[in-house]
Amino acid sequence: MEETLEILRRYWGYASLRPLQGEAIECVLQKRDSVVVLPTGGGKSLCFQIPALQRPGLAIVISPLISLMKDQVDTLVDCGVEAACVNSTSSADDRRRIAADARSGKLKLLYLSPERLMSDRMIEFLQSIPLSFVAIDEAHCISDWGHDFRPEYRMLGKLKELFAGVSLHAFTATATPRVREDIARELKLLEPRILVGSFDRPNLVYRVQRRSDRFQQILDVIKRHPNDSGIIYCIRRLDVDEISAALVREGYSALPYHAGMSDYDRTRNQDAFLNDRTKIIVATVAFGMGIDKSDVRYVIHSGAPKSIEHYQQESGRGGRDGLESECWLFFSTIDFQTWKKLQSDLPPEAYAIALKMLEGIERFCSGARCRHRSLVEYFGQDFEPENCQACDACLAELDVVAEPLILAQKILSSIVRQGEKFGGDYTVNVLMGSSEQRILTNGHDKLTTYGLLREHDKKHVREWVEQLVAQGFIERRGEFNVLGVTPAGRRLLKGELQPRLLKPQEKPKQSAADRISWEGVDKGLFETLRGWRKEVATAREVPPFVVFSDATLRELARTRPSSAGGLLKVQGIGEHKRDEYGDDLLAQIATYCQTHKLPFDVGLDARPATPPRERNPAATTGLSPSEAKRHAFQLFAQGKPIDFVIEQVARAPSTVWEYLNEFIVANTICEPAPWVDEPTFERIRTAARSVGKEKLKPIFETLGGTIDYGLIKVSVNCLNNAPPEGDPQPS
Ligand code: ADP
Repeated sequence: MEETLEILRRYWGYASLRPLQGEAIECVLQKRDSVVVLPTGGGKSLCFQIPALQRPGLAIVISPLISLMKDQVDTLVDCGVEAACVNSTSSADDRRRIAADARSGKLKLLYLSPERLMSDRMIEFLQSIPLSFVAIDEAHCISDWGHDFRPEYRMLGKLKELFAGVSLHAFTATATPRVREDIARELKLLEPRILVGSFDRPNLVYRVQRRSDRFQQILDVIKRHPNDSGIIYCIRRLDVDEISAALVREGYSALPYHAGMSDYDRTRNQDAFLNDRTKIIVATVAFGMGIDKSDVRYVIHSGAPKSIEHYQQESGRGGRDGLESECWLFFSTIDFQTWKKLQSDLPPEAYAIALKMLEGIERFCSGARCRHRSLVEYFGQDFEPENCQACDACLAELDVVAEPLILAQKILSSIVRQGEKFGGDYTVNVLMGSSEQRILTNGHDKLTTYGLLREHDKKHVREWVEQLVAQGFIERRGEFNVLGVTPAGRRLLKGELQPRLLKPQEKPKQSAADRISWEGVDKGLFETLRGWRKEVATAREVPPFVVFSDATLRELARTRPSSAGGLLKVQGIGEHKRDEYGDDLLAQIATYCQTHKLPFDVGLDARPATPPRERNPAATTGLSPSEAKRHAFQLFAQGKPIDFVIEQVARAPSTVWEYLNEFIVANTICEPAPWVDEPTFERIRTAARSVGKEKLKPIFETLGGTIDYGLIKVSVNCLNNAPPEGDPQPS
């Protein structure tokens, strides 16, 4: 493990491993077959790239797409690792050089597509040199239950026979157990270790809204990200063309991507997106696999996806660098009908599965529960935090209706009185007291429910009808989707069951992940470094994220190192990158800081000079003090509540409160949420105004001993970080 950490630090500039990376690397080192399931951005690549440097011989990496291989190889070479790929674009000279390097043992990783690997010549060559192991990336492509089945992956079933004694390691982000089993069976793995990570992506902020004015809703998101990369998913090609054209008319740099375009156009547009020549890609589901661009800051679904599995994959393309990314889903009931139609020619069994999946995403869209919890539980895992701080439900952007039962009873009772023969819009119109001719002709203006919800916003009433459908109190029946009351709905009418109804707020709030990851970052310097990165990347003909991730640039703009030693303390800068870019970076930072009179080396001294020993931050025991603190800092940066952090790092609460205080000071955090709630903070602030904040005891006493010292200390540290208030302080 010492060696693993040393390689991680030296080549990649990271100080600790992410959950399960240690175990996955261990499998490769012990030559034990494995299937590793980690969510997108979980760090699968390092699980085979690091042991490739530790073990003698050449590691083969199977990858389905040339673009994916190219980016990974560029990233490795930029970190100082000997890696190459052979594909249809490689010249004869390239191939000769690669073969020579592989033979001499200089080359450590070779990326190949399955069909190239299984060609007779390649097999013969690989059988003639020592191999360390074979890693199979995007391994779900082998399963026809996966969403990206590729017949050529099936050829990999022969690997065990062809390369006896060479261990196989499969990697995927696809969550279903069925796919996992398929992978192990098809590859003929021998007693594989199956490692499954948490499917939660705490840095993604999920928001789901009913579609009203589609283009405006999309624009509202994009306007908050003027310089960021984003993906907009659409159900149909027509929508892709319409939205991308409309964005271009509005002056945005946007390009379309769908299966109706030529291969050439698609590749060109995808490359433009990866290389930051265009900021926005508008696409159907055809766009996705192989997009390992790490700095996608928002993913918008302009229509509902066809399953939760798809939603997780597609939204998962945001925030691979671990920084916040917004995931917006704008849906309408029509979307589910559209998917039904689009999939209606599937064989009956597959169609039945598709309908089940569609029901899952429909419930998710209309649901009122924490989105992170809903997604994680859908995949059969537990979700611990009470409040994720990163979805519309937990950020309280969706107001819970005060008396949901009465409201729901009014809606259901109108449906019953209308004879259960009308659809959602009609029902809402009756409840709003509309004088639509159809209602008057049917005499429904005489119903006791007519105009009963007149005082509410019509959009909200429509939303409640859908929420009641999603919660199983109302169902759609027959060809015309008329609304009917279910047995659960009848019990609700009798007051035996309670619904949960929400009304959406208009303005999104800032998530904890968003707030914290920008804390202390000088945005001007960040933009300067981003401009510099673009120039370097263009000159080297690689995508900018290959040079440095946004996470590294933000940390540079937060800590502003003044020396090569300081650069090495920044996550994502290893020795090779320091040598390659260090002088340039230091010059950029120095010029900016001198012009703007900013201090250098902020918080860098607090960083441990030597990396921690233990590699698995998910482990709840066995962390050394510095590892525990580092892990706690990571969790605080994700906005995790204190109880959750105490449990994760297995330290005494008083120790973890101290970690939190250090974290707040080191990152100049001014807002104590989620660790101190708003009213408590307000009380502490008021007390501090009257008795000063030099000592905690007077505050504690002013508050009558009702608030813990821990909460007071955290709040006071935040107050100390905040700009001085206009209010006079007591002398
Ligand atoms: P995946 O293939 O699972 O989607 P990647 O391997 O592309 O994820 O990793 C996502 C990002 O996280 C990359 O920028 C990678 O460099 C970074 N990363 C991976 N492991 C670590 C680590 N231990 N510490 C910090 N960053 C990491």
